[in-house]
Amino acid sequence: MKPSDSIQDLQYFGEFGGVNPSITDSSTYTFLSAKKMFDTFEGNTDGCYLYSRHSTPSNLYLGQALAALEGTETSNVSSSGMGAITSVLLQLCNSGDHIVSSRTIYGGTYAFLKNFSPKFNIKTSFVDITNLKKVESLITKKTKVIYCESVSNPLLEVADIESLSKISKKYNIQLIVDNTFSPLSISPKKLGANIVIHSLTKFINGSSDAVGGVVCGTQQLIDDLRNVNDGAAMLLGSSMDSFRASSILKNLKTLHVRIKQHSQNALYLAEKFESIGIKTVYPGLKSHPSYKIFTNQMNKEFGYGGMLTIDVGSLKKANSLMELMQLKNIGYLAVSLGFYKTLFSAPGTSTSSEIPEDEQKEMGISDGLIRFSVGLDNDIDRTYQAINNCMKEIEII
Ligand code: PLP
Repeated sequence: MKPSDSIQDLQYFGEFGGVNPSITDSSTYTFLSAKKMFDTFEGNTDGCYLYSRHSTPSNLYLGQALAALEGTETSNVSSSGMGAITSVLLQLCNSGDHIVSSRTIYGGTYAFLKNFSPKFNIKTSFVDITNLKKVESLITKKTKVIYCESVSNPLLEVADIESLSKISKKYNIQLIVDNTFSPLSISPKKLGANIVIHSLTKFINGSSDAVGGVVCGTQQLIDDLRNVNDGAAMLLGSSMDSFRASSILKNLKTLHVRIKQHSQNALYLAEKFESIGIKTVYPGLKSHPSYKIFTNQMNKEFGYGGMLTIDVGSLKKANSLMELMQLKNIGYLAVSLGFYKTLFSAPGTSTSSEIPEDEQKEMGISDGLIRFSVGLDNDIDRTYQAINNCMKEIEII
């Protein structure tokens, strides 16, 4: 079934017949018998809750909808995207294990793999994820995970998930895909990924008022993450609050409408920028090196997503343009993505600043790079004209 249909068909009733499920405002839960409490701690009872760090009815509703989005057996929500990423990696990897990761990933994930997980003797080799031969050549007997983003942050490199999945199956390792940049457009599980991660903070929530994350995978994986004795989600404690789960679930229900508009607007701007000679990266442009791969992988009706980058030549010009665009109410000079207004930032000095400068250069994160998360503007040509005027004022064009 299409992911949007799976979400559409989910129907919950609140405690008093409300059209939204009731929010569970409790950290702990009663049991009618002591035996039932024991069984629940052992993980042997369905429909019983033990403590809200473990799970809550509201979190399970959201988790069920996100599993429907990604076509996985189930999922576990967490209080941030990093909470999801760190818990699943620490669950799957033991001391001495090895990860092969795309080198162009969110700066926080990069910092975790590069600086934090080596404390537990978990080592990571970073690789250009579009170079499949190189990916395979880095796999050793100790490799447990191939990690990538379906569309990478901030360079918008596209992972060939089908081919990566073949490699991961050949060596019996887990392919984890962070699908934060392309919900609905790309379905990593259908393409062979084992585990799909999102920062819910971005497109899925869509109103920049919440932080959240999710791990979508098998029932076994999620049970393992929640295990009271050795589950990383349970023991590291990045649990989502029920009120947040409830608000994110409501926003998720409009995701299909929003993604279409984000994609349509981003494609419009990308084509216009490219046509006036601005160096533009957008997976929906034929000039994008992975245009074909994205096109073959995508769920067509949702387009190529809302993220694009342009290079205006220098950090000074990038900063001036962003400041002027904010002044003209085109959008906000802010990190993050998926908001209804356009957001722009210079990745080199913000979301990717954890990556050392020489490595940024090697990856292609240039000084004049601006990342746009294109908003839901009703009249995108009007927005384009306004940006064009700003570019003229700063003598970019
Ligand atoms: N994954 C990607 C692709 C991101 O862009 C981000 C945040 O910017 C994260 C994960 C981390 O998510 P959070 O900020 O919700 O912890």
